[in-house]
Amino acid sequence: MAHKVCLIRGDGTGPELVSAVETILNAAKVNIDWIEVEAGLKCVEAGKPIVPDETIAKIAEVGVGLKAPMTTPIGKGSVSPNVTLRKRLELYACVRPVFSLPGVETPFKNLDIVIFRENTEDLYAQIEYMCTEKVAHSVKVISESGSERIIRAAFEYARKNGRKKVVGVHKANIMKVADGMFLRVFKKVAEEYPDIESWDNIVDNQCMQLVTRWSIYDMLVTLNLYGDIMSDLAAGMMGGLGVAPGANYGKDCALFEAVHGSAPKYTGMNKVNPTALLLSATMMLEHLGEHDAKANVEGALKATLMKGVKTYDLGGSATTSGFAEAVASEMKG
Ligand code: NAD
Repeated sequence: MAHKVCLIRGDGTGPELVSAVETILNAAKVNIDWIEVEAGLKCVEAGKPIVPDETIAKIAEVGVGLKAPMTTPIGKGSVSPNVTLRKRLELYACVRPVFSLPGVETPFKNLDIVIFRENTEDLYAQIEYMCTEKVAHSVKVISESGSERIIRAAFEYARKNGRKKVVGVHKANIMKVADGMFLRVFKKVAEEYPDIESWDNIVDNQCMQLVTRWSIYDMLVTLNLYGDIMSDLAAGMMGGLGVAPGANYGKDCALFEAVHGSAPKYTGMNKVNPTALLLSATMMLEHLGEHDAKANVEGALKATLMKGVKTYDLGGSATTSGFAEAVASEMKG
């Protein structure tokens, strides 16, 4: 039976990336019934909300989605479509694995870290206002329950996936109330997982340690803003935004998307790297229980990269569609 999956084609380079991923998943013969839903800049330009209610309702009903990047209109009046989806669907756990890929040269050998980023709170609560004409306030919201569910999700993931260490990342030395609560909850939850080694670290120190001692880290769990920044840093260590995948999980719903944005300056140029969205799609295949298909796609991707077929960001000259065809041709079966 076909898996039902909602699909958002996204803005900017999003539609080209989705076409590339479709080429590869078709070659892997995964039986997916795609249900297209709308969100993003296109909706705003058509006079609709940036994420229409029908889109939220459909993803909630189907329970799984693949999303290409969307453009956030800058400035007043329009909220981020990504933040809106994560909040309204309660996709509280943003999971971003970073790992070395064969054929992708970086100074960071044997990289293998999973970052758990809280996805619904923090400064992304989007509570901002002008306090006086010349002073803006942006409110950081951290709750005990929100902290507990992301921290527990990280420890559960560690157990399920044979990971040995979880580090809680915060800035409780300065934000003693908000980050202090996150840290307290981290320590309390960690006590329930004596089989997993755990410690905490301040975010600035953690960033430095990521690029100097990455091999001692296994999993990081952190607040929304630090997770956003650290996962782009880690994406750079992996080879750039073109290769870094991600997933957003809630209690009843999961939405898979690359770490990167819509890279609007490359729109229509058939140039950007579909690897990040493809690896997000393989996380989706795992979620759907399609383990053989996942292994097949990942094997084909690695074989392609090792043959030196690469897009511009990795020093190659392959186009988006050309790269997708090369991966598709490496598929077994
Ligand atoms: P971006 O990630 O879109 O692009 C930054 C740069 O990274 C690009 O110019 C390009 O050099 C490189 N890059 C990104 N994706 C690539 C790929 N697949 N292959 C090769 N190179 C790639 O970040 P931005 O320019 O700051 O943001 C553009 C828009 O995307 C903004 O509107 C932003 O709000 C939005 N955004 C969306 C998401 C999302 O949908 N999840 C995430 C981040 C940013």
